[in-house]
Amino acid sequence: MEKREFGYSFSLGRKIETRHRSFSSEEELNRFLKNESPLYISYSVGYFKFPGATPMENKVLLGSDLVFEFDADEVGLYSERDVWVCKNCGEVGFGHVERCPKCGSPVETKLFPDKEREERLKEMVDTLVKDFLVGDLGISPSEVSVNFSGNRGYHVHITSTAYRSLDKEARIEIVEYITGQALNPSYLFGDPTPCGKGIVIPCVRGPSPSMRGWPGRIARAVLEVLEKRDVDVLLGAGVERKQAEVIVKNAPLYTSLIRRGLWPAPRIFPLTSWIDIARNMAPTAGHTIDTNTSVDIHRLIRLPDSVHGGTGLVAKRVKNLASFDPYRDAVVLPSREITVHVRIAPEFEFGGRTFGPFRDEEVQLPLYVAYYLIGRGVAEWSWTSNE
Ligand SMILES: [Zn+2]
Repeated sequence: MEKREFGYSFSLGRKIETRHRSFSSEEELNRFLKNESPLYISYSVGYFKFPGATPMENKVLLGSDLVFEFDADEVGLYSERDVWVCKNCGEVGFGHVERCPKCGSPVETKLFPDKEREERLKEMVDTLVKDFLVGDLGISPSEVSVNFSGNRGYHVHITSTAYRSLDKEARIEIVEYITGQALNPSYLFGDPTPCGKGIVIPCVRGPSPSMRGWPGRIARAVLEVLEKRDVDVLLGAGVERKQAEVIVKNAPLYTSLIRRGLWPAPRIFPLTSWIDIARNMAPTAGHTIDTNTSVDIHRLIRLPDSVHGGTGLVAKRVKNLASFDPYRDAVVLPSREITVHVRIAPEFEFGGRTFGPFRDEEVQLPLYVAYYLIGRGVAEWSWTSNE
C-alpha cells in the first residue's frame, strides 16, 4: 500500500476530487479514513517509487496489477426495475431508455437490485476467472481475487507478481485474447479435406469440442447453436437469413462433422462467420470487458473493503462468488429507520426484505436502504421529520 497512489472525494457522485495522495502505513490510512471519512476512496492499480509525486511521470512506475472490470450496465445487463432520470427536465421512469421521452435529452440510468441480473453478472465473472484466467492462461486461483465494486459490478484483480511488469501493449493482447477480438481463421482452420463417404460438400480441418482454449470454445459454441435448430438464434448470432436456413436444415450433419473437427466450409459458409457465432456467444465477448480499465496502468480503482459513498455498500472481497449477494453481504449501515421522501423506486429486495414500489411519498426505511436511495438520487432526507 505504501507504493500506491490514492484518490478520494467528499462529494456525492464525484468519485475522485483529490488524488496523488500516499500513505506510508495502514495505520496512517486508517487514521485518515476515520478522521476525514471521504465518501469514496480509490487506489492505483500501479505501484510507484514516489506515489504522491506529481505529475505522473515523477512517480516512477514500478509495476501494475492486472484488473478486469465488469459493470452491469456496461455489459448491457439492464432490468425493468431500473430507473432513468432526465438531467434536463427532471422526468423519471422505469426501465432503460436512451433519451428522455419528454424532452429528448440523454438520461442517467440508476440500477436497482435484480436477482436475475446479479446471477448473470456473476456467471460472466466466473467464466472469466475459471475458463480464461485459470483455464487458458494458467494463473493460479489463489492469485485471482474478485471484489464487489460497491455498486454495479465486480473487479477481478490478478495479484500475481508475474503480471505486474506487463506493459500496455501486453495488456491489450491479453484483453484481445479474452474478448476474442484477434482470432485469426488461419490459425484455427487448416487444409481442405473430404468430409467423408457419401458427403458431397467440402470440409476443412478445424477445432473439435474437446480442444483447449478458443478452438474448443468455438466448436462447443457452434454445436450449442446447431442443437437449437433455430433460425432466430443464428440471426441473433449475426448470421444472414439465407445461410441460417441452410444451417438449420443441415444441423444434424454439421453437428456430426464438427464433433470430429471437420467443418463444412468455406463455400457454404465463411469460416469467419463460425468464429463470429462463437465470439458473440462468449460471455467475455467484445464490450463485456472494460478495455480501458484493464490496460490503463495509471488507473485508480475502488479500495477493497471500503464503503462506496453512492450506495452505502462495502466494496467487499468476495470469498464465495456463487453464494454472494451484494444486497445482503455488503450491507454495513445500521437498520434503524429514518424517514425519506422517495421520488421513484421499483419493488426491490434489500437485506433480505422487500421494499417498494414507491412514487412521490414519505417512507420510513432502514438507514441502509434510505442511504441507497439517496445515493441513487431518487430520494431525499425528509426535513419534516425529527430525525
Ligand atoms: Zn427530459
